[in-house]
Amino acid sequence: MPLLPRRFERLRAVLDRRMGDLTLLLEHVDKPHNLSAILRSCDAVGVLEAHAVCLPGRLPTFNSTALGSQKWVALHRHESSTEAIAALKAGGFRVYGTHLGAQAVDYRCCDFTGPTAFVLGAEKWGLGEAAAAAIDQAIVIPMAGMVQSLNVSVAAAILLFEAVRQRQAKGCLPSHGEGLAAERYGLLLFEWAYPEVAAWCRREGRPYPALSPEGAIAEELPRGVRLRC
Ligand code: SAM
Repeated sequence: MPLLPRRFERLRAVLDRRMGDLTLLLEHVDKPHNLSAILRSCDAVGVLEAHAVCLPGRLPTFNSTALGSQKWVALHRHESSTEAIAALKAGGFRVYGTHLGAQAVDYRCCDFTGPTAFVLGAEKWGLGEAAAAAIDQAIVIPMAGMVQSLNVSVAAAILLFEAVRQRQAKGCLPSHGEGLAAERYGLLLFEWAYPEVAAWCRREGRPYPALSPEGAIAEELPRGVRLRC
């Protein structure tokens, strides 16, 4: 079935607003409903990709809460939090760790308009010591109740939407694809539009075919591959 122009427009509209400079690192966040809710929030605000450090022997798993958002927000796995944080810093991110300790500053006092990574900790024990030592800044969402912490997916959503609010106020939210490199935009657009053809091209070691302005594949493909479009 050919890709409908309306669907292609929608894929482009979403990619136009994706941000490569806002991300999350999830340290041992393990419960499928939490991972799912977090990726759904990432998709909602326009996060391009997120990062995770998993418990040994565990793979990130999602449930129906995600509503398929794991298809649209890549989750990159890392061996350790310190390696992941070092890589984020090397990529120019300021790394904010959510830490419920006294030295943490109110998240509303921070500027999230530059490249920003939030590190969120495990449901049970929060951020590990090594991660807490490696972050640039500890932040907290102030609370006034009897319970001492929020659900991790709620904390993630609050921080992401605050970053978006600040970027909107500063006029630096992407709206025409400026949130990611043009080459990456083109590759992702093809992968989102034609996942099976993209997988075939990768297996064959060939570049993705060009797309017409309406989103049609502007190249002859083998019949078996064409039928998967
Ligand atoms: N006992 C753990 C602790 O002391 O950190 C509670 C972990 S909490 C349920 C799981 C994660 O949610 C935390 O590591 C943090 O990333 C995030 N979180 C929860 N409440 C938060 C708050 N008020 N401010 C910032 N992050 C919070």
